[in-house]
Parts: sequence; structure tokens; C-alpha cells
Amino acid sequence: MPEQNWTEGWARPAMKSRKQHYFIDGQSLCKQWEYGGPYDECDHAEPNCAECGRQLAKLCKAIVEIDRALEQILDTECVPEGTR
Ligand SMILES: [Zn+2]
Repeated sequence: MPEQNWTEGWARPAMKSRKQHYFIDGQSLCKQWEYGGPYDECDHAEPNCAECGRQLAKLCKAIVEIDRALEQILDTECVPEGTR
């Protein structure tokens, strides 16, 4: 089995945790858990932490917005002088 080095992903940090939480660098997005891995790919059969889901959605949205902003900056700076 190839070794996987996920630094983030869904995981169930402990037996007493009934839900899966989303971890980035060992810290769950809901700030309730610390866990060093391994992380699983999202298992939709498990009930996931609602707060982690919300934070993840927010994060994804923020990344998309940053990407868009970067594209706009690059677009402007790539226009040669005199053509504006
Ligand atoms: Zn959580």
C-alpha cells in the first residue's frame, strides 16, 4: 500500500467521537479536536461534524475568491504599457 501523506482531511479522532471532523495540520476546523492522522478520504456514511463542514465550506469559498482576485491582478499586470 503506498504511503499517503495527507496534511488534511476527514478523520475520527477518537472512539468517543461519533462524528468525523475535518483536520488541517492536526487541528479540527471546529477547534474541538487535535489529531495527527492518518486522515481518510471523506466517508459519507459517517455523520460528519456540522461545524467542520461549515468552516470547510467557508474556506473553499475564500480560496475561490483569492484565486479570482489573483487572476484579476495577473490580467491587469500582463497588459502591455500603452494598450490600456
Ligand atoms: Zn468538527
